[in-house]
Amino acid sequence: MGTDRVFPATRLAGRRTASWAAVFAALAALFLAVAAQASPAGEAFAPGSTCFASTGPAVGYARIADTPDAWNCEALERTAGDARAFVRIDLGTNRTNVDYVKLRRQRFSELRVIAVGQDGSLAQNRIDPDGLITGRHLWDAYAPIPRTNAPPRTIIVEMDDPSAASRLGSAQVVAGEPFTRIAGIDHVLAALLCGLLIAPVFFDLAFARTLRAPFPLYHAAFCVLALIQTATASGLVDLLTSLPMAVQHALVILSFDLMMAVTALFTLAFVERGVIEPWQRRMLAGMAPLAAGLGLLAVFGFPVFGPNVGYVYYGGYLLYLAGIIVVLATGLRRGSRALGFLIISYAPLLLIGASRVFVSLFDSMNVPTESVWPQNLALGFQVVVTAFAVADRFMILKRERDTARTEARALEDLSERDWLTGLLNRRGIEKRFADLRTQGYTTLAIIDLDHFKLVNDRYGHAVGDEVLQLVADVLRADDVDTLAFRMGGEEFLLMLGGPNAAKIAEMRRRAISESVAAAGIAAHTVTASMGLVEAPLDALPDAGFEALYHHADRLLYEAKATGRNRTMSEKLSAFRPRRGDRRRAA
Ligand code: GH3
Ligand code: MG
Ligand code: MG
Repeated sequence: MGTDRVFPATRLAGRRTASWAAVFAALAALFLAVAAQASPAGEAFAPGSTCFASTGPAVGYARIADTPDAWNCEALERTAGDARAFVRIDLGTNRTNVDYVKLRRQRFSELRVIAVGQDGSLAQNRIDPDGLITGRHLWDAYAPIPRTNAPPRTIIVEMDDPSAASRLGSAQVVAGEPFTRIAGIDHVLAALLCGLLIAPVFFDLAFARTLRAPFPLYHAAFCVLALIQTATASGLVDLLTSLPMAVQHALVILSFDLMMAVTALFTLAFVERGVIEPWQRRMLAGMAPLAAGLGLLAVFGFPVFGPNVGYVYYGGYLLYLAGIIVVLATGLRRGSRALGFLIISYAPLLLIGASRVFVSLFDSMNVPTESVWPQNLALGFQVVVTAFAVADRFMILKRERDTARTEARALEDLSERDWLTGLLNRRGIEKRFADLRTQGYTTLAIIDLDHFKLVNDRYGHAVGDEVLQLVADVLRADDVDTLAFRMGGEEFLLMLGGPNAAKIAEMRRRAISESVAAAGIAAHTVTASMGLVEAPLDALPDAGFEALYHHADRLLYEAKATGRNRTMSEKLSAFRPRRGDRRRAA
């Protein structure tokens, strides 16, 4: 198979198994760690307990306030069609100074915080999604607790249309001012990270232009999405702008899922040819719409999925994780340099993603309100390591391209040279003619051997060849003002510059006979005829090769017709068919 030719499967099967085992061991360890975090359960309405309830849209708190059976103190269990979720926190006997309920932010239509005083008095705050106070990052939100006449005994959060009611599981009461709208160290660090994320975009755009390959563009898209993710999730956007919370919420979710989509596309574009199987390529291509679709699902919470939306979302990501792990493991097994980079680059974010997926799917969607910093750092790490991978590939491709260009140039050079004499051929002069003229080579001479057929006939083709090589040696310039070419057969061409061009050409023509005689390879004298045109640049600025060559060829013909072994030359002031007075025979 072609694949094996490029990446021979020389690794031992044991190492293959070991890499798979390592992946599964890591996932299993995460799962166990998550399962060990049992949520503390209490008795309904006991001081210090936190309990949950879920009802239809018309059922208010009053209806279930005195029914302990309606409450579950371990987790929130919802049935399809429930539109309202409750959290009831019974305060400990000596805990009365509470100011806010801290929540994990999510989509909802309305939220009410009810406080019950020790004297039975009730107070209620209605809060819409934009009324929540953002915490240290976007996922932390605070809802103010209303004041009751007597110190509070019980705090209830009632949320309409929650997108993931299980997130209420992390609700807790806090005292004091939770958050002030000034930049904290988290914001400064987030801003710094944003700066780090934007830098590779410029390199990527330059690489994409030079390489004409899509993978730097995917990396650039990833950087931009990671920047949006960091700026929104850290609360930086909330601090600096007045974007509605629903928009910030959509941005933070969509930027993450689109990052996952782009990661799949980048991997597909970046992996070397032949490393992964065709079905794996199709799978990677399919993972992009999967991740983007999951993002839309999370933002718009398509009602068909009801309360199971979270299971669909995290279940989808379980598939995504499995897909990417299979591809990376194949790359590891086949010794792919590109995927080697990507394994290091993706590892932190994959581990965080895997832990979230497992927590969500196997711990009742109890998504932890962990800090966003591990994710931010993992994103920064992925961007930087992938940038190195892109630069590495850039160097490899550039080296390959340079080698190919050198080879192409060598081939081109070969096609412009005559193999017998080593002189440039007709192609060679045609290509250089315009440049040579502007450099001052304004005289063109055609030299054709006389009765050369006789040389071949008398002494054989090999001697003929030897004569041609001798002629080439004579014509080959050792002064910079004369350049020689072989036009084909026994016809040569000289390009000459300087004031004595015509004289030099004539000397060389005569030298042919002497050189052949001195070599002693032919019994008779070998002579040559020449047609020469001088075409000064100022008089004929636009003279092309064809026109001058034709002119010289006609002069050569005249030299042959008038007895051979002579030169006919003409100094042109403009192209006119006949200027006999200027023509002279040498
Ligand atoms: P003229 O004086 O009119 O130019 O006569 P000529 O015999 O030189 O001209 P013609 O064009 O009739 O013949 C050219 C000969 O040059 C014919 C061909 O056999 C010979 N020739 C062309 N290329 C080569 C080559 O590469 N090697 C050898 N040995 N002979 C060649
Ligand atoms: Mg000839
Ligand atoms: Mg000829």
